[in-house]
Amino acid sequence: MQITVDHVIRFLERAAALIRDHAAELTELDTVIGDADHGTNLNRGFSAVVVKLDALQDGDIGTILDVTGKTLLATVGGAAGPLYGTAFRRAGALLAGRYTIDGADIAAALEVALKGIVERGRVQRGEKTMLDAIAPGVDTFRTAIVQGQSLEEAARCALVAVEEGMRATIPMQATKGRAAFLGPRSIGHQDPGATSAYYIACAMVGLDAD
Ligand code: ADP
Ligand code: MG
Ligand code: MG
Repeated sequence: MQITVDHVIRFLERAAALIRDHAAELTELDTVIGDADHGTNLNRGFSAVVVKLDALQDGDIGTILDVTGKTLLATVGGAAGPLYGTAFRRAGALLAGRYTIDGADIAAALEVALKGIVERGRVQRGEKTMLDAIAPGVDTFRTAIVQGQSLEEAARCALVAVEEGMRATIPMQATKGRAAFLGPRSIGHQDPGATSAYYIACAMVGLDAD
């Protein structure tokens, strides 16, 4: 199966809708171990992305992802804006000029996006951040594609890994971001960024639902 510009636009629209529908929940999680703005921040950013998408229907996938990243960088703020912004921009740079992509292209784009988050956040796995949801998803997706599974199957397996990674942040102690200030009191709460990453992954898997 090939993924087209249309699929990418619909993924971003779905991501924006999921973030909007779960904004209160994301902010609630950020109230417990942060500063109560994660849902508000991301909803502002993805709403701005949707507005930009209208003018991008004829653009290539790389441009669409680059504009998405730039828009998130400019509008989200906090820790998550630069992290998601960098991830989308890196994926966009890799897919510059492309109008169709396959599973291997998506695996490569996810790899560079992940590397962008690691570099920008100076973060490793196990620090109770979005990385703990995203990294297992990227690993699982790549392995499934390398093993010859379909895009649909790889995406479904990856989503399970993202959800497990999100839940695995609950017992972790935060050592990055605002939650790190809480020290051991950050234990027992799900990370807001890992949760938004899960909703974005849900939107990606929707790529194959139609
Ligand atoms: P802020 O904490 O600046 O208000 P947000 O509330 O929008 O920013 O985002 C918080 C989320 O960002 C956290 O739940 C965590 O997942 C993620 N995060 C924070 N710092 C880092 C980092 N250095 N690397 C990766 N992710 C991080
Ligand atoms: Mg916050
Ligand atoms: Mg903040």
